[in-house]
Amino acid sequence: LAKEGILALTVPRRPTRPIRLGTVTIGGGAPVVVQSMTNTDTRDWRATVAQIRRLEAAGCELVRVAVPDGEAVAALPLIRKHISIPLIADIHFDHRLALGSLEAGVDGLRINPGNIGGADRVKKVARLALERRVPIRIGVNSGSLERDLLEHYGRPTPEALVESALRHVRLLEDHGFGLIKISLKSSDVLTTVAAYRLLASRTDYPLHLGVTEAGTAVQGAVKSALGIGILLAEGIGDTLRVSITGDPVDEMPIAWGILRALRLRERGVELVSCPTCGRTEMDLIGLAEKAERLFRTVRTPIKVAVMGCVVNGPGEAREADVGIAGGRGTGILFKKGRMIEKLPEKELLSRLVREVEAMTGEAVDP
Ligand code: SF4
Repeated sequence: LAKEGILALTVPRRPTRPIRLGTVTIGGGAPVVVQSMTNTDTRDWRATVAQIRRLEAAGCELVRVAVPDGEAVAALPLIRKHISIPLIADIHFDHRLALGSLEAGVDGLRINPGNIGGADRVKKVARLALERRVPIRIGVNSGSLERDLLEHYGRPTPEALVESALRHVRLLEDHGFGLIKISLKSSDVLTTVAAYRLLASRTDYPLHLGVTEAGTAVQGAVKSALGIGILLAEGIGDTLRVSITGDPVDEMPIAWGILRALRLRERGVELVSCPTCGRTEMDLIGLAEKAERLFRTVRTPIKVAVMGCVVNGPGEAREADVGIAGGRGTGILFKKGRMIEKLPEKELLSRLVREVEAMTGEAVDP
């Protein structure tokens, strides 16, 4: 690949200071971490735990929950006890909720120190977070920029977003706090990219990448793949969140797809399927969709093909570890482009599942 010049597309990762949230390291050369946020009512700890477990199974490595009030703070220890990935409390404005969340044992906080009402409160939060070695994410969003910056820059420009973030950073640094990561989110892809590039040139804190209010699954996947993908390809970014309007579990294949496409990390099944054409004589689209759902929880990296015809399918998917190709009434199983066995069409998917289970050593939930 290096000879073909393909690897020249990726650059070395930007050096950043490492921070640690529970068992997960962000920055400092650690692999880019996939995270998400629940959309359950945090006060309903059972529903929140259930969603986090589904996220974990789909590849989420860090999870954030909204903490809007004291009842949500009270649910945090229960949530943390029943999950195995680090937990981040997302807090707006109220420093008491931040202190409560730290006492409750969270692994990370998301709070903007400039919005909690003065130096004294910032000091209290910074002190307790430092004592507990809990990092804080500063998250600047184009929709909630300070008024003076909006007046000065006229709109949420990349410069305005960066200036806002660095103000918040200084408030924490004033109290000797440096366990910081930063995000700068805009719903506009090019503003997001320009803002992170500028920030990366001004600080070595680790960066959390994301495009905010990205839209429903298709729109969100496109915007996130572009915004996050461009930055990662430039070596910028230490953790990411794909945000879509919908079930957060659906963010996971997109997040892992971005990392896999850039050859930064691998996880689970990479499903390759043909676009179908006039040679297709079976319901390939339905079969590919079923396969994608079934393989969602597989962790071992493996390339699986679902192809529409016996004549071209195995050759077109030569790179796949294992695959099936459909015909009329029958189909074949192939490995690395070689045909292995002819099967009735209705047995193709179950046979593929058994092969994936055998090759990965993992059970596929029906
Ligand atoms: Fe058409 Fe066969 Fe290629 Fe699918 S694999 S696009 S059915 S030629």
